[in-house]
Amino acid sequence: TPTSVSVIGLGAMGSALASTFVDAGFDTTVWNRTAGRADGLVARGARGAGDLAEAFTASDVVVLCVVNHEAARAVLAAAPPSDGRVVVNLTNGTPQEAESFAAAARDRGHAVLDGGIMAVPELIGGPHAFVLYSGPREAYDAAREVLTVLGRPVYVSDDDGAASLYDLSLLAGMYGMLGGFFHAAALVRSAGHGVESFTDELLVPWLSAMLGTLPESARSIDRGDYAETGSPLAMQVANDSIGEASAAQGVSAELYAPLHALMQRRVDDGHGAEDMAGVVELLHSRGAAA
Ligand code: NDP
Repeated sequence: TPTSVSVIGLGAMGSALASTFVDAGFDTTVWNRTAGRADGLVARGARGAGDLAEAFTASDVVVLCVVNHEAARAVLAAAPPSDGRVVVNLTNGTPQEAESFAAAARDRGHAVLDGGIMAVPELIGGPHAFVLYSGPREAYDAAREVLTVLGRPVYVSDDDGAASLYDLSLLAGMYGMLGGFFHAAALVRSAGHGVESFTDELLVPWLSAMLGTLPESARSIDRGDYAETGSPLAMQVANDSIGEASAAQGVSAELYAPLHALMQRRVDDGHGAEDMAGVVELLHSRGAAA
């Protein structure tokens, strides 16, 4: 069981990770390119490494959290090779970047996990934080006890890019929801009404109820069968009331328009009697994977 962990990169997120490890009682070594950033953590009980090599070799598990993959690759290239030390890269990036980092890290003898942090720094170590991991199962099992203190660990798969893909998919879902919220807020505000009470009393309960419909839509998408529905697409695009009302209110419908266009295309393709979830079929340029 690993009892030591190193954190490389002490920005807002890396510092939160490191202080959580310290508070959990792990023997924590820290390193940051700009040295001063380690001071607060050292005062709290972390060991400040004199250089990157020392930080890398000090612990069983090395957590890397720097600004982007270019920086992560630079850190990796400057760090000493190892014989199976687990390097956990929590730097945000694309699946392709995760795969290429993992390959480069393996070439240097490390075991490697890629991670996607689903939390802001203040939530690290709290009940709402979770972190997605992908990479070899043995590496995950070896590091799991250390990683658990950051937030609920979720092992996605042994495919190096999978944690990143899930991370970005969750963010895509979030941005879609926020886009809808902003459009709704602009409409309500255009009539001189307060957004706060509309949101508290109506939008949050409405969206919460609609969230309950996602699992059924997800099953349709998994089956590729959209036939069963109480809300056929043709009915939903029989008019563009949202677009027209927005224009009349002086509100741009640019957040909603692309979705409306996809729904219309799906109807034009002959799927008007089906469920809206069928628009997902229009999003694949290479066809869905088997
Ligand atoms: P910050 O901008 O606060 O910190 C960036 C860190 O990267 C600093 O420690 C910086 O070191 C280091 N760095 C930059 N370039 C290099 C380099 N070439 N070599 C070594 N170190 C380098 O970012 P965060 O801590 O907020 O984010 C870190 C990662 O965590 C990002 O990938 C981010 O997407 C991800 N993340 C952040 C979240 C957040 O809410 N903050 C949420 C989820 C994920 P120096 O001090 O020397 O500049």
